[in-house]
Amino acid sequence: TKFSDLGLAESVLRALTTEGYETPTPIQAQAIPPLLAGHDLLGIAQTGTGKTCAFAAPLITRLLQYPEHPRPKQTRILVLAPTRELAAQIGESFKAYGRFAGLRIATVFGGVGFGPQVAALTRGLDVLVATPGRLLDHMQQGNLRLEGTSAVVLDEADHMLDLGFLVPIRKIFSKLPKRRQTLFFSATMPSEIATLAGEMLHQPSKVSV
Ligand code: AMP
Repeated sequence: TKFSDLGLAESVLRALTTEGYETPTPIQAQAIPPLLAGHDLLGIAQTGTGKTCAFAAPLITRLLQYPEHPRPKQTRILVLAPTRELAAQIGESFKAYGRFAGLRIATVFGGVGFGPQVAALTRGLDVLVATPGRLLDHMQQGNLRLEGTSAVVLDEADHMLDLGFLVPIRKIFSKLPKRRQTLFFSATMPSEIATLAGEMLHQPSKVSV
């Protein structure tokens, strides 16, 4: 498989070339086509497999294909990550893969000031990468709008539950539109994770690497 056969936007393909990527990793080859078609995805994969590009490249492509929600100051794609390190890494990856797409991207996590995060959130974002606790704080302060969010990614779901994020995650998901694309990644699939995935996903494509 070649990246150019998968249906990604030209600007995304150019960014992947700039990154030095030549061929899709297995998770990219398997996940990109169903994600471009708008399906939900259940991915059993560890970090290091090329997972971030597997979801970021098709989600950026879909952003470029569909017009923005008419109500302004929305967050179009939401990515939830368990730790600030992972959130920062995912944010950098979206910046890299979206470098020619002119996207508004921000990363928010706890332990730093609210001010700059509030400024970015209230302007509206194409991509928001966040840890659950800080995102919930912002939601409770009315700093962002999720009614126009068309895609949500829950990354490292097993790690999220280990860190006690189940309640914040449920609260966040309760504010998302019912009609949306949902991506759920976990390295392991114990029964509580499978139950959560079952609640959040609608007829998902399944990818395991
Ligand atoms: P991830 O699993 O998303 O954390 O990615 C792991 C590493 O693989 C990152 O350093 C990526 O930049 C790199 N990577 C992802 N996809 C590819 C690819 N198709 N070819 C070469 N490197 C890649």
